[in-house]
Amino acid sequence: MGKPFERTVEIVNGLMRPMAQFWLDNPMPPFEDYARLYSAIINNNADNYERVAAAMCDPQRKVALFEFGLVPQPFYAFDCAPLCLEFYPSFFTRTNMNVVYEFLDAAEQAGLPSDVCSTDRFIVGAALSDELPDNAFFVTSSSPCDGTRIAYPILHKLLDCPMLYLEAPFRYDREAIRYYARQLKSELIPFLEQITKKPFDIDRLREAVIESNKAYEYLVDIHDTFTVKPAPHPGLLRIMPYGSFIQGAGHPGLTETLKLLRDDAVGRVREGRTQGPFEEKHRVLWVHVPPTYDMELFNWMEEHFGAMVVTNSLSSTAILEPIDTTSLDTMLEGIAWQGLDMTMSLMRFDTEKLIDFSLHAYDHYQCDCMIVTQHVGCNSICGARGLIRKVCRKRDIPVLFIEFDYNDDRVLPPELMRTQIEEFFTTVME
Ligand code: SF4
Repeated sequence: MGKPFERTVEIVNGLMRPMAQFWLDNPMPPFEDYARLYSAIINNNADNYERVAAAMCDPQRKVALFEFGLVPQPFYAFDCAPLCLEFYPSFFTRTNMNVVYEFLDAAEQAGLPSDVCSTDRFIVGAALSDELPDNAFFVTSSSPCDGTRIAYPILHKLLDCPMLYLEAPFRYDREAIRYYARQLKSELIPFLEQITKKPFDIDRLREAVIESNKAYEYLVDIHDTFTVKPAPHPGLLRIMPYGSFIQGAGHPGLTETLKLLRDDAVGRVREGRTQGPFEEKHRVLWVHVPPTYDMELFNWMEEHFGAMVVTNSLSSTAILEPIDTTSLDTMLEGIAWQGLDMTMSLMRFDTEKLIDFSLHAYDHYQCDCMIVTQHVGCNSICGARGLIRKVCRKRDIPVLFIEFDYNDDRVLPPELMRTQIEEFFTTVME
C-alpha cells in the first residue's frame, strides 16, 4: 500500500496536466474548435485534486469528504478542501481501470457484497487500500440510497475519522428542505467549528455562496444553450460542467472555467454557428448515468448516428434560482435545495417525480429519444424501469434500456454497449 492520495496525485501530474496541455498544443481533429474548453475543464479538475493534496499537508486546514446531498460552499467557508466522494470513482475510471478493479476487489474481499453499488464499493476499497486523503473528515446524508447508508458507517469504522450524518428528507417540498437546512445550521456548522477549530464566519459563507451563484448562472446558461438545435458544443461538454460544479462551487477557479465555456456556447448561439463537426440528427435524453469509463462514447454517437446527448436526467433538474444571500437561514435553505436537487439525491423520493423531471427535460431540450441506463446495484433506477417504459409507450417515446455498471466495464464491455446503441439508432430511430 502506498501513501494516501498518492496514486491520485500521480495521475494528476502524469496524465491530467499533460492531457490538458496536449489539447492546447495538438488539438485533436475534428474537435480543434473546442480544445481550449477541454483543456480548461481538465485543468480545473486537476486544480481541485491538487488543493486536496495541499490541504492534507497543512495542519491549519482539513479535507472535507462529502457525499451527494451536499455542495461544497459550507466547506470553503471553513477553508477546507472539499472532495465529493461519489465523483471519485470516475477520476480513476477515466484514467486507470486497474485501480478501479483493485479497489472493487478489496471491498469484496473485505465482505462487501458484489451487488452493492460500485460507487460505494469503490470508496470502501479506496479506504482499505489507503488511497483516501488523510487529515480529513466525512459529511454524509441518508440520501440517496441504501448503498451510501451502508458504505459510510463502514468507512467510519475503518478510518476512525470524524463523521457527521445528516438526515435527508424524503418529501420534495419547501418544509422538507427547511428541515434539512435546520440540520445544516444546528449540526453541520458546529461540527465544522469543532473539527477545524475555527469560528463560523457568516461573511466567509456569503463570499462562497456569492461566488457559487456566479458559477451557477454560467452553468444554467450552458445548459440552456443546449436547447438550441444543433447544440453548440459536443455532448461531453454538456456533462462535464455539472460535475465540476458539484466539486468546486464557491471556488473562483470553477467560476472562471464555467465562464469560459458559457461565453463560448452563448457566442456560438448568438452568431448562429452552433453546427459542430457532425450533423445533428437526434437529440438524446440520457436517463441516469452514462459509462464513466468510455469518454469516447458521446463523440462516437455523434459521429456515427448524429445522436447528440443534449441533456441527462440528473443534471437537468437544478433549481433555476441562485441562492438568496440575505441571511444565514436563506443561504442554508438554498444550499439544502442545491445539495438535494443537483445530484443523485433526486433518487431519494418517489419514482413518479423522477419521471416527471425527466419528461420535463425531454420536452425542454426537444429530444426525440431516451437512453435509460440500468446501473446494476442501483435499486432506485432499476426499480423504475417498468414505470419508465409505461410512460414512454404512452407518449410514444423511443427508449433504449441498457443494463451495465457505470464504473465497471467488466459488467458490459464498451463494445457491447456500442452494439446495443448502434442497433437502436439503425433500426428504431431510422
Ligand atoms: S447509482 Fe444508485 S445505488 Fe449508486 S450511489 Fe447513485 S443512487 Fe446510490
